[in-house]
Amino acid sequence: MSPPSRPKGGSGSAQREGPPVTTAPVDPTHAPRKLKLATVSLAGCFGCHMSFLDIDERLFELLELVEFDRSPLTDIKTLGHCDIGLVEGGLCNAENVHVLRDFRAHCKTLVAVGACAINGGLPAQRNHLNVGTMLTEVYQVRAGLSPTSRIPNDPELPLPLNNVHPLHEVVHVDYFLPGCPPSADAFWSFLTDLMAGRTPHLGHGLIHYD
Ligand code: SF4
Repeated sequence: MSPPSRPKGGSGSAQREGPPVTTAPVDPTHAPRKLKLATVSLAGCFGCHMSFLDIDERLFELLELVEFDRSPLTDIKTLGHCDIGLVEGGLCNAENVHVLRDFRAHCKTLVAVGACAINGGLPAQRNHLNVGTMLTEVYQVRAGLSPTSRIPNDPELPLPLNNVHPLHEVVHVDYFLPGCPPSADAFWSFLTDLMAGRTPHLGHGLIHYD
């Protein structure tokens, strides 16, 4: 895994990045009657999901067009074959990488949603620190800890990565929806374009970082 790098041109409109993309926009003529949509939060704060929910009454319109698959909004834990996968957050541990690869394998169109998914965001601020030093500081050195405090090492805990990575460093990403978080209007504009088979384009005023 190569060290994190910033994607080019981080703001403006929903963007395709990197090498030529072969995945076409969702084609409603070949899709099920309702498109299947999955969402997940990796190393993120759920702010992007909250902003998605801010489309408010347009959720009813969305539900006419899509059926939710795995998502924190449905609490479905397993992923079926989907038309669109929205991924919030970057990659900070081995489980994040596993879930992202699963999304890539099951979603025709994969979207990196928000700054954390696109460039690592706030969690990537730890990238200039040594993970072992950080864990020692938090669990063993900090004032007020019990003398028996230890770094958690349960085998069920996902192993932290040395660096926090954006999604495109591990899998191919079809679209990037910028913002922290992207606004509800940006979500709606992006999704309505995608569901109609158009290349998403965010008009002026839909990109901002609150
Ligand atoms: Fe939270 Fe912003 Fe990251 Fe979205 S991009 S998960 S709102 S910190």
